[in-house]
Amino acid sequence: MSSQFYDVIIVGAGLAGSYAAYELASSGYRVAVLEQKSAPGLDSCCTGIISTECFNAFGISPEIIRAKVNSVRLFSPSGRCLRLESEKVQAYVIDRASLDQAIARKAQASGAHYFLSSRATDIIVEKDKAKVEVWHLGSREMFTSRAMILANGFKPKLPQKLGLGKIKNFLIGAQAEVEAHNIGEIEIYFGREIAPGSFAWLVPTSANKALAGLLSTSQAKLSLEKFLLGSFCRDRMVTEEVEIRQKTIPLGALPRTYGDRLLVIGDAAGQVKPTTGGGIYLGHLGAKMAVEVLHRALENDDLAAAQLSRYQKEWKAKMGREISLGYRARQLYGRLSDKRIDKIFNMLDSGGMAEALLNSPNFSFDWHSKLILTVLKYNLTNPLQRVWRSFTGRLNND
Ligand SMILES: Cc1cc2nc3c(=O)[nH]c(=O)nc-3n(C[C@H](O)[C@H](O)[C@H](O)COP(=O)(O)OP(=O)(O)OC[C@H]3O[C@@H](n4cnc5c(N)ncnc54)[C@H](O)[C@@H]3O)c2cc1C
Repeated sequence: MSSQFYDVIIVGAGLAGSYAAYELASSGYRVAVLEQKSAPGLDSCCTGIISTECFNAFGISPEIIRAKVNSVRLFSPSGRCLRLESEKVQAYVIDRASLDQAIARKAQASGAHYFLSSRATDIIVEKDKAKVEVWHLGSREMFTSRAMILANGFKPKLPQKLGLGKIKNFLIGAQAEVEAHNIGEIEIYFGREIAPGSFAWLVPTSANKALAGLLSTSQAKLSLEKFLLGSFCRDRMVTEEVEIRQKTIPLGALPRTYGDRLLVIGDAAGQVKPTTGGGIYLGHLGAKMAVEVLHRALENDDLAAAQLSRYQKEWKAKMGREISLGYRARQLYGRLSDKRIDKIFNMLDSGGMAEALLNSPNFSFDWHSKLILTVLKYNLTNPLQRVWRSFTGRLNND
């Protein structure tokens, strides 16, 4: 199956890999996609919340929308509830497995070849080609191409072996689909007790079903089990037995996302919002930007690292500040005690600050840096500002 010489081989048929495959195959390139699972979207572990901006930008089919989002209920560690509502739909909950399947189908219809149950174990870049070692149903094969895209999610081994460095920090996401009643809108729960260093969620997907999940710096599965048995959830759950899936989410960018004949996209590159762990939109954007740079490089037959380095410059210009500022905001949040989080809730609620922020022109579902800076500048005496000041002097002087 590997005798053909491809223009581009893509490792990973997640949304980033398949989107890149679709774009490249549509431009007439010979594309192979290697996926270790037996089907795209299998055993997916993702809530599927995307902004309307992402939905419109990438032509996502309305058929896979599970719910529209224009309100959210935020719960402080002590149980105080802050409800936010916007007149407009801000986001959609989409069926993530169906999204991966739909993009893969589009890529295949455009001519991309998919090799399933095919795990890439090594990549060797030579002067005139890139080779990838693949294990398929117990046997080893070599594939060759002019260029390679690594879109294999947060799996540090291959990037590190290729000398691209390592993303050192991460969160663990755990999620289960639950049968439940009385979950009418998205609920987010904050606090160290519930989700150490992060937050938990209940996201309704239909009348009696919801996705329950949390992000945590450790023991995410255990924390989710506790959350489901705790006072916020237990009376609303219909079934006790749930299948919890886990996945690691990168925090921060991979030091180098290009090399000779090589580009890295999506979670593998760290194209994820550190504030929420959301990577669907940034992964799509990264894939699009990688394809544009690769297209020029393939046309000029110059696939040297120097030529491909433009990709990193371009994607960092678009998303770098979001990722670094979001990362620092997350570190700051991780240091807050439950008491302090409760104080911030009081402040957001009592002064009408939450509504003001939601309706501020600086508010964006995807781009959080302006909002982070607005929160910090809103009131010089607020507790968040004081923590931020002790945490970093630089931003306050900007
Ligand atoms: C619990 C949870 C909830 C989330 N909710 C949201 C959300 O609501 N909104 C949002 O925007 N983001 C969310 N995310 C993040 C989002 O799921 C990721 O950012 C996104 O999946 C990244 O896409 P990707 O294509 O880069 O990687 P992936 O989706 O991880 O795809 C990588 C693919 O590569 C394959 N692969 C890996 N290694 C190899 C190999 N060696 N050979 C061949 N194939 C390989 C994998 O099987 C996989 O199919 C969530 C994450 C978690 C954990």
